Amino acid sequence: MTLKKCPRPEKQAYPTEQAALRHRNDLRFRRDGSSDLVAYLCTCGLWHVGHSQQRLDARISAALRGKRPLPGAKRKAW
Ligand SMILES: [Zn+2]
Repeated sequence: MTLKKCPRPEKQAYPTEQAALRHRNDLRFRRDGSSDLVAYLCTCGLWHVGHSQQRLDARISAALRGKRPLPGAKRKAW
């Protein structure tokens, strides 16, 4: 198995999906609105907790349709 360097080294990493899910559940109890957090297997071979890519894609699509501005989308003033 070839492990790549972690693209998100700042994120907490877990050795198993169970450990990541346990952490995610803790987050859900502490904070509202984080129910879209998922445990995912990183290219580094460890598990992270983060927002699901589907939700991110949906948010980006909505922003592209002009419903919601993306944070940092106003880098250039045309
Ligand atoms: Zn990683």
